[in-house]
Amino acid sequence: MELTHIEHIGIAVNNLEESIKYYENILGLKCYAVEEVKDQKVKTAFFKIGQTKIELLESTEPDGPIGKFLEKKGEGVHHLAFSVKNLPESLKEVEEKGIRLIDAVPRKGAEGLNIAFLHPKSTNGVLTELCSEE
Ligand code: ZN
Repeated sequence: MELTHIEHIGIAVNNLEESIKYYENILGLKCYAVEEVKDQKVKTAFFKIGQTKIELLESTEPDGPIGKFLEKKGEGVHHLAFSVKNLPESLKEVEEKGIRLIDAVPRKGAEGLNIAFLHPKSTNGVLTELCSEE
């Protein structure tokens, strides 16, 4: 597997609009996209710092993955996303090494990226996302 950089850090928030204010007014970043990902039941807002993005995630349904996370843990870092070359191959490789996959096959995430999640039980408690543009 060949990771190229940290693609983004996913942060679960209760209120997207309120949270955007912190990133813009205090940290001085600019939100360049807001996008709803229907099958994940989330609304996302993106900021960029160098090659890395911050992805804020607000739940659109209480029973969605972010809704459940917020209920259990409250706001905070939700996942870490690495950019990887050849996502399908990488998934096969880590699965062979005993890593539990949430997505055995890549699916479409925000910004049109192909993504797949590794289970936090296999990754020292950090929900890990692999993404690739191909
Ligand atoms: Zn993500």
